[in-house]
Amino acid sequence: MRKKVLAIYTGGTIGMEKEYTSGSLYPLDFEHILDKIPEIALLDCEVDIHSFDRPLDSSDIGPDEWKKFAHCIEENYHLYDGFLILHGTDTMSYSASALSFMLFGLKKPVIFTGSQLPVGDLRTDAKENLITSLYYACLYENGEAVIQEVAIYFEYKLFRANRTLKYSAENFDAYKSPNYPLLGSSGVNLQINKENLWRTASKDFFADLHLSTKVFFWRVLPGVSLQNLKNILVLTNTKILLLQVYGTGTLSGAKDTLTSLEKIRNSGIEIIVLSQCISGKICFGKYENSNLFNHLGAISAGDMTLESAFVKTLHLLDNPRYKEESFSDLFSKNLKGEKSP
Ligand code: ASP
Repeated sequence: MRKKVLAIYTGGTIGMEKEYTSGSLYPLDFEHILDKIPEIALLDCEVDIHSFDRPLDSSDIGPDEWKKFAHCIEENYHLYDGFLILHGTDTMSYSASALSFMLFGLKKPVIFTGSQLPVGDLRTDAKENLITSLYYACLYENGEAVIQEVAIYFEYKLFRANRTLKYSAENFDAYKSPNYPLLGSSGVNLQINKENLWRTASKDFFADLHLSTKVFFWRVLPGVSLQNLKNILVLTNTKILLLQVYGTGTLSGAKDTLTSLEKIRNSGIEIIVLSQCISGKICFGKYENSNLFNHLGAISAGDMTLESAFVKTLHLLDNPRYKEESFSDLFSKNLKGEKSP
């Protein structure tokens, strides 16, 4: 039987066109994309389209839109075999990671894709990205979806969404998954690395739309003091500070660093420690200048990406679903394949 895919069009370069007077790219509607890729009609699947009010540059997409995407999948879950989300590349890793935490009991593919060049451009990467994503979105074996998680397909590679980051604004090969292997790749054949796929233990499908906003991010820089940080955090009603430090978890050993972080902890704010390196993981106590995190009772983000750690925090913080467990215990767990043991 022909598989049915719901394509959710959110915007991004894939559906943009150049405005010749200003030279800027602006978003168009989905029909425009379909006109440019007539090959879609040749695929052995039925594609329905859901567009939101207005196509967005992905820099305008955040928690409110993630809730809409998750809700749309929830409403249509039983009507389709797979979901394709067309999204701008700039924040795709955030949106796709967010959905990986918001969707429970997912047993169907949710594939995000976009492109670096607009669909109408002669050298566009949109066609391959879109068509192969559709293949993955309706790939079934023995009556079961092969991909049962949120993934990003881009430039011949299929990634676990919550392991990705956009690392290039120039290359067609724009995404990396530095700490987790590929789920698949497309050459002459569509290849799937079955041993890397995620399988959920949850039984029924549902979307949890809870997302907190009481999270603050700070990147340490050489010579920049943390002295006033606590005041900013209190003023902004922050509950969790995502602190991006160097290498495996180091930051300046100066006395005032420790005092500033102690003040933050004593005001009840949790500190999650992330690395500025894109690959490798946080390891408290490896160097003297990371010992203070043990003393502070900070939470290690392990080898999670910033994108994933950020949206995981929004999802877990103050979420009534998890009221029995402490934030720190929950955050340290591998919930959706986002971190290594
Ligand atoms: N600014 C665009 C967006 O993220 C870039 C892209 O789609 O490649 O919406």
